[in-house]
Amino acid sequence: MLHKQTKVSIIGGGYAGMAAAVTLAAQGIPVIVFESAKHLGGRARGVLQNNTQLDNGQHILLGCYRETLNIIEKVGGNIGQDFLRLPLQLTLHHCFELKAPNLPAPLHLLAALLLAKGLSFSERISAGRFMLTMRRIKFKLRDDTNALDLLRTYKQSEDLIRMMWEPICISALNTPINKASAQVFLNVLRDSLNGSFADSEMLLPRVDFSALFPNRAAEFVAKHSGKVLTSCGVEAIIPRDDGVELVTAQGSHHFSHLICAASPASSARLFSTIPALASIADQINAISYQPIYTVYLQYPAHVVLPHAMLGFDHCFTQWLFDKGRIAGQHGLIAAVISAEGLHQALSHDQLAQKIALELCDQLGIIEEPLWHQVIAEKRATFSCEVNLSRPANTTPNNNILLAGDFTAGDYPSTLEGAVMSGINAANEIISTR
Ligand SMILES: Cc1cc2nc3c(=O)[nH]c(=O)nc-3n(C[C@H](O)[C@H](O)[C@H](O)COP(=O)(O)OP(=O)(O)OC[C@H]3O[C@@H](n4cnc5c(N)ncnc54)[C@H](O)[C@@H]3O)c2cc1C
Repeated sequence: MLHKQTKVSIIGGGYAGMAAAVTLAAQGIPVIVFESAKHLGGRARGVLQNNTQLDNGQHILLGCYRETLNIIEKVGGNIGQDFLRLPLQLTLHHCFELKAPNLPAPLHLLAALLLAKGLSFSERISAGRFMLTMRRIKFKLRDDTNALDLLRTYKQSEDLIRMMWEPICISALNTPINKASAQVFLNVLRDSLNGSFADSEMLLPRVDFSALFPNRAAEFVAKHSGKVLTSCGVEAIIPRDDGVELVTAQGSHHFSHLICAASPASSARLFSTIPALASIADQINAISYQPIYTVYLQYPAHVVLPHAMLGFDHCFTQWLFDKGRIAGQHGLIAAVISAEGLHQALSHDQLAQKIALELCDQLGIIEEPLWHQVIAEKRATFSCEVNLSRPANTTPNNNILLAGDFTAGDYPSTLEGAVMSGINAANEIISTR
């Protein structure tokens, strides 16, 4: 029974924690969010550098991220205004281009594959055949393997893998293709490429990631009698017979329920001292992580890329984003390097120089950047490996729930995975009504 005394605490003001808070607040359930950082957003947050609004990393959403898009609208966002929405389009400069025409599914995908530039006729046919075979088996493998093995088993050529499947796998799973879970890769293909034209669309944010959802969510929670406390980290969780006590530097606070939506390392630390939750802490501690580097280069305002999003082959740069085309930040280019690699051995200045050289070699941009900023998120996402064991949203203690992109689910470490986990954890509490 969810009675009048139900009062929920949430640790973490990232996308998972704020999605949980909005879901509970919308049901009239009192909620308090504790966030240790000064600002909300966690691994998807706005950052102000050189008087320019950046994000801690360039993010991209897909049309199939329904829960994320719905909850952004629920707190007052406007998807049409907040994003530049592009048809599925993967362009690797001078070597590969795939663009989905606006046709009913799956024709849009088959047409995109058959018309792809840079692949031989037989490669285009084999990519189409691969997708049709995966549809037939409902994108479900009997045994997980790595994505590279799966693609080789289905006779995808090395060039086809390098130019098309690998960039999709690395950007979606942020895990090298020879380690990445084939099953999670297929889950992403099922919901994006295999969905409708709208599902496969790419959404590039025009506003920063704190403003996009977490800040609006905090206003929504406040309007529904809840509270969001920043610079207020939780130091310990103490289970009580009638609920949970949270210890912060400001004192102890009692609640009927807790949703722990902190980062995985922090959740493991908080759970490790509670005997009933220690095995969950061990499970989280067994997860490994992958980095994402975002190199921002501010060029003079007249510098533009041929596309809002453009990939390079055989370069350190994997994807470039023209923030002028996307968000009116003219001359600002974001270069993204996902997953582990040789770039990690370079200093930030060396990496920025290397990216500027690649822009010069590949696109003829001879201007010097006016400034650069490298943001290295060393633990950007969990390493989405074969048969990875991920903890559930429920725990052996009925009053304590877990949320976060790393909890069990179909998706890799993504905003959609984070938002879904927050909503699921909140619904566990709501369903006890
Ligand atoms: C550079 C980069 C690029 C990415 N690109 C994409 C992309 O293109 N598309 C996509 O879908 N996803 C992308 N992701 C992944 C996405 O950002 C994450 O999956 C998502 O933000 C995770 O949200 P979360 O709420 O689960 O965790 P977090 O964002 O980690 O939130 C946890 C929060 O808990 C707080 N916290 C921790 N400990 C405590 C404590 N003791 N007390 C109180 N608060 C605490 C933290 O400060 C943090 O705010 C990217 C991630 C990075 C880093």
